[in-house]
Amino acid sequence: MSASVARKWIELSWLRKGNKQIPLPEIIFEKLSFASGCCYKPVKRELQIDNRFWDLSRGLIIVDPSFDDRFLLNGIAHEWRHHWQHMMGINVVSKWVSGVDYKKEIIRFFTVNLAEMDALIYSIKKAPDDLSILWYEWIIKSRKETI
Ligand SMILES: [Zn+2]
Repeated sequence: MSASVARKWIELSWLRKGNKQIPLPEIIFEKLSFASGCCYKPVKRELQIDNRFWDLSRGLIIVDPSFDDRFLLNGIAHEWRHHWQHMMGINVVSKWVSGVDYKKEIIRFFTVNLAEMDALIYSIKKAPDDLSILWYEWIIKSRKETI
């Protein structure tokens, strides 16, 4: 990992430009069973993961560290955007369905949930990686097929 990538992980300032009023959430790296990342909105409670308790009062971003740097940065940008959405009062409710056709589920997931589409586009703009660009192409092509 390069030093600039490591700094990006820690600081989040590359995402916060123009949004200095938004409090920085805690960001941690944990393997997740249900996604490659997730974002908890700021609430006055704690979240227990294994034997540790995480304060959620500033929000919490969790990113699964078992991916390459570009995917991780893209995931951090995606989850940061959900944090931003929470702070703007946008309700983010999205559910990934596993065990179905992966490509169809990607298309459904991002088109049914506008907050997810917004986070996808934002993450491609801030930290593009091949997989998120491929997802976006699938979505755009699927729209063409339905017109
Ligand atoms: Zn998302």
